[in-house]
Amino acid sequence: MIANDMVYSNPDEAFVSSSGRGTFLHEFGHAHGLYHNESFDQMRAGAPNVIMGGTGDHIELTGDESWYIHNFWNLVNGVTNLYASSFRLNPGGLAGTFTPTTTVRLCPGQTWPVAFTVGNNGQSNQTFNQRIFVNTSPPNSGYSGGFDWGYWTGGTVNAFGWVTWDAGSWSIPTSWPREQTLWIYHQVDYDNHVSELREFDNIVHASMTIIVGSVASCGQ
Ligand SMILES: [Zn+2]
Repeated sequence: MIANDMVYSNPDEAFVSSSGRGTFLHEFGHAHGLYHNESFDQMRAGAPNVIMGGTGDHIELTGDESWYIHNFWNLVNGVTNLYASSFRLNPGGLAGTFTPTTTVRLCPGQTWPVAFTVGNNGQSNQTFNQRIFVNTSPPNSGYSGGFDWGYWTGGTVNAFGWVTWDAGSWSIPTSWPREQTLWIYHQVDYDNHVSELREFDNIVHASMTIIVGSVASCGQ
């Protein structure tokens, strides 16, 4: 069902939401033979749908939907694509990988739970490296540069699948800029080990932002 009061602009990649774009893709999925599937995909019966990061449209087919299209229509072979998402699949629905969805004040040495999700809507298993960093500006300028938080090497996502890594709690370094909003970014295949159909959907910002307190207020 597509209501005429839906929003059709590109949704913010970081926030769990419904959009006209996702709803249209969902309904076209029905038109192509897909049933509802309460998984990490667009064919969830209820909002929200999965949103991808990057500089393009944040709505695209997820892995099992791509599997169906590729196998039923037999159109394309050899497609490779990974994408970053700020969502995770929790029991009962989708949620952000970072909570809260607001700004958190922290000091160096304090820790925060870090999680990130990668989907594979290509036709082969892929092993790749990931970078988590912060930056002083939002997308799209914040997608490059920035200040390292950590790296995750050698993770694998199988063809048509997705994985959320719960990477434990990471410490806030002393070297980050103080007293300004820091956007959190997760970049898949930052070293471009995997050649992909859509290189532009490999990075996503989180809904949470961080402000690191001053040396005076944090004592370091
Ligand atoms: Zn439906």
